[in-house]
Amino acid sequence: MDIIKRLADAGFEGYLVGGAVRDMLLKRPTKDWDYTTNASPEKILEIFPEANYDNAFGTVAIVTDDGLYEITPYRKEGKYSDARHPDVIVWAKTLEEDLARRDFTVNAMAFNKTIIDPFNGQDDLKNKLIRCVGVPDDRFKEDALRLMRAVRFATQLGFTIEENTFAAIKNNAKLLEKISGERIRDELIKILSAEFPGDGIKLLYNAELLQVIIPELTAGVGMPQPGHHIYDVFTHSIKALEACDNKSWLVRLAALLHDVGKPATYKERDGKPTFYSHETIGGAIARDLANRLHFKKEDREKLYMLVRWHMFSVSEFITDAAVRRFIRRVGVENTTDMLDVRTADRIGSGTPATSWRHEDFKRRIIKVQQHIPSVTDLAVDGNDVMKALGILPGPKIGMILNKLFEEIMEDISKNNREYLLNRIKEIA
Ligand code: ATP
Ligand code: MG
Repeated sequence: MDIIKRLADAGFEGYLVGGAVRDMLLKRPTKDWDYTTNASPEKILEIFPEANYDNAFGTVAIVTDDGLYEITPYRKEGKYSDARHPDVIVWAKTLEEDLARRDFTVNAMAFNKTIIDPFNGQDDLKNKLIRCVGVPDDRFKEDALRLMRAVRFATQLGFTIEENTFAAIKNNAKLLEKISGERIRDELIKILSAEFPGDGIKLLYNAELLQVIIPELTAGVGMPQPGHHIYDVFTHSIKALEACDNKSWLVRLAALLHDVGKPATYKERDGKPTFYSHETIGGAIARDLANRLHFKKEDREKLYMLVRWHMFSVSEFITDAAVRRFIRRVGVENTTDMLDVRTADRIGSGTPATSWRHEDFKRRIIKVQQHIPSVTDLAVDGNDVMKALGILPGPKIGMILNKLFEEIMEDISKNNREYLLNRIKEIA
């Protein structure tokens, strides 16, 4: 209200606009506040000397402790020739023109004392509908990112995409290929971070967008699985995502992708479907997707790791050495996330989660890390030293064992009998 007042005091129109108005009407919290005005960027800067101006859209930004406030002069839609960027930015004279260039009716409302709503966004809010402003087919051809945005808003808000808008998304789905990986990634992250990410991914599939973004995943549609599995590969992947009890979008994505290597490794053997090494191929596919979508390096490597190593055993019979190997592969900081993917996988197969095995495994992870290694953990003992060197008990034996122990603490992989028996002779 202070921003609107300062613009008015200087003789300009000013409105809160877009997502903040939508969220206000939905009583959802807002971080980013967008304003539109008939003042030029230069005038806005005069009125708000504390603001920054540094982009081609004429947006002036004020950053405060409680959020980001952006003021942009009225604009209208320029011509688009590449489904990505308007050829030129065109200033507009009226608020109505500015609202007409916005993507969806629920995002095309303004507020200044009253709600200005030329496209009946309030009705669509009530009916929980995402509907294009104007002719849907034209709007998606102008800017194909809107295809993703429609699904993203529907997922975040729990809305339905209006029929004509939905038909136009399907008709234009292929245009998504023109959109950069970064922009698709940012929308996908918002979909995965929503309260019901599984609904978002199903909507992406029904809208025929998932087929463009992750074709390796949709290759599993209808692909049968043997044994305890009651779902096809794709349905199982969605169920695993839905069962993934973890707030991180990356871990959720790993749950969705854990079997992404199955379509490529599918082979019928003795009349049964098999997927040998699907976790290896799956890891490679996950890494490739992360590269296409320009993930940060650490996100890419974590996604790879979670897919690559999802096949570990949580049986109570595995050895401490196997538990240590597991920790070494996934990294101690990732063990909980890895177990969450594994649990999601099990629940997503329709198998009970057997949570006691997971709890037991977690205890063992802690236990093997608390275990302070000593000479008795060596793969050889004093008897081996005496036999190898043909000597009798004496101080030399302890000395050799201590030396071997120091070596394996440097490199735990050296703790095998064959290697150590050779080293005994060398050291002596
Ligand atoms: P949120 O910030 O909660 O994700 P938002 O609605 O504020 O949602 P932004 O991406 O911040 O979304 O965009 C602000 C406003 O700008 C939107 O509400 C919409 O009116 C307009 N807008 C953003 N991107 C586009 C686009 N690609 N095409 C048309 N209008 C857009
Ligand atoms: Mg916003």
